[in-house]
Amino acid sequence: MACIFCRIIKGELPSFKIFESDKTLAFLDINPLSHGHTLIIPKHHGVSLTDIPDDSLTEVLSVAKKVALAVKAENWNLLQNNGRLAHQEVDHVHFHVIPKPNEKEGLGVGWPQM
Ligand code: C5P
Repeated sequence: MACIFCRIIKGELPSFKIFESDKTLAFLDINPLSHGHTLIIPKHHGVSLTDIPDDSLTEVLSVAKKVALAVKAENWNLLQNNGRLAHQEVDHVHFHVIPKPNEKEGLGVGWPQM
């Protein structure tokens, strides 16, 4: 199976899991933009959000809430890219939870250019 995120779901590749249910997996991003940067993925394989059945998406927002609380993020972004021109690199739908660094951590963490 070629899809990296399907291989993570199957346990063929390692990940640091934050949350898992029958439809959803959340794990730490391997190349984090900030401390706690987490990816939330539907287990149903699809490249674009429009490929995913509604019942595989219903849990995503509540998981995003759980992740933000778990990593104690006060300021954070929920980001989802579709297509290369929109900066999608991995062809399995994923949502980024990206905590913004606080003043103590400084502003040294990058942010995707839009
Ligand atoms: O939204 P986009 O497709 O650009 O983001 C893909 C994300 O998947 C990147 O943040 C990258 O670090 C992450 N990734 C990962 N584990 C992998 C491959 C990619 O966390 N094995």
